Amino acid sequence: MLEPEVPTDSSAVTELLRLAEVERRAGDGEAEYEYLAQVIELDSSHSRAHARLAEITGPAPTSRIATPDDLVFRALQHPYDPKALVAAAGVLAERGDTDRAIGFLERAVWLADLDPAASLGAIRQLYVLSDEWTGQRIVPVHLYVDELIRMQPDWQFQMRNLWLSASAMLDSALETRFVPIAILPFDTSDTPNDLDSIHEAFLAATRPSAEGIFAVMTGRDVPGDDAVYKKGVAEFIGRSLAVRVAPGAIRSRILAHEILHLYGAIHVLEGVDTLMNPTGDSLALDAPNIRIVRSLRRREFGPGGIEENVLPEIDLGVTVAAYRAALSVNLSLRETEINEAMRSKDTSSDQAAFRVHKATYLDTHLADAAWLVASLMLEDGQRVEAIRLFDLSSQLYGRLTPRGRESAEKARALRESMGAASPPVLE
Ligand SMILES: [Zn+2]
Repeated sequence: MLEPEVPTDSSAVTELLRLAEVERRAGDGEAEYEYLAQVIELDSSHSRAHARLAEITGPAPTSRIATPDDLVFRALQHPYDPKALVAAAGVLAERGDTDRAIGFLERAVWLADLDPAASLGAIRQLYVLSDEWTGQRIVPVHLYVDELIRMQPDWQFQMRNLWLSASAMLDSALETRFVPIAILPFDTSDTPNDLDSIHEAFLAATRPSAEGIFAVMTGRDVPGDDAVYKKGVAEFIGRSLAVRVAPGAIRSRILAHEILHLYGAIHVLEGVDTLMNPTGDSLALDAPNIRIVRSLRRREFGPGGIEENVLPEIDLGVTVAAYRAALSVNLSLRETEINEAMRSKDTSSDQAAFRVHKATYLDTHLADAAWLVASLMLEDGQRVEAIRLFDLSSQLYGRLTPRGRESAEKARALRESMGAASPPVLE
């Protein structure tokens, strides 16, 4: 089952929705609007109320208007029209009503997929007006949503709220606003129900060229309680991800977890309270992963690989140090787990074997991380360390896997080139 991160209505909200529905049936749009607006006052991320309000108010007319007051009035009449919001914010800012202007602009950014150009204007104004925005990075998201999620009438608002809450969840570490600038359909019905297949089908169909994260959200549930079926996947330090989302969910720990993989975060052992524990439910981030993602937070999301998007934006030494610390903590954690399993007398040998297996199972992200740090160190001229880490990543991938062989081959070639190039050094 997917995590039930679906909000439940309070009784006051339920009653207001009922009254709004009565007015809708009676054809009284104004009264319905009033009740729905009260719902939003109680619960600002109520997707269903937003969806209906957007339907009632519609886009603003494009006719010219005479006075600045009219511009503000028009935005209040059409509060889901980014262009109208930005125009009104301009008037308010000029009058010194900065807080209200910021409110209008933030709303325009939340609705970016409806009018990306207007929202870009909003972001520019926010950088000028708001101290909170000055330090923020903006990452555009190209969002693809499958047919199961799209069955809900409020699915676009669900998606906007989902990514807004993910930005908030990660804000202390990343200070980044993830902004869906396009929300598009992607059908998964012809794809097997495992996330790797869905992710691959998605990548084959979309061919990302624009700047930003490419994400596919599916409403397909895992079959039964089978732990083999993943709930999220992401390219390690890449720019695409796939996540299963429960109907109506506007908060997803899995989405936050997968975004962190795009910033190089690695798994930690079960039992540690962190977003990077693939099981658990912690929303905090462990110190070693904070260090990693902060060192990579300025990375770009353009076409190309690490050379184009990551290396020019980071301090190599800082990133390498962050990974060395994280990998050593991680590996020692694993060792501790193994030792404990071996030592404990009150567990059967079967259980002990299971724990050892769990502590040493091949973790792809850890292998990727070792490979990445090896490459960074090579770039930095630290060849001995690079060899050690290519060997380690070969072990973590599994020596007989293609990537494991590739890593071992890299280490061997480096060893040979060092032997040939430099005379023996006495230390
Ligand atoms: Zn993961």
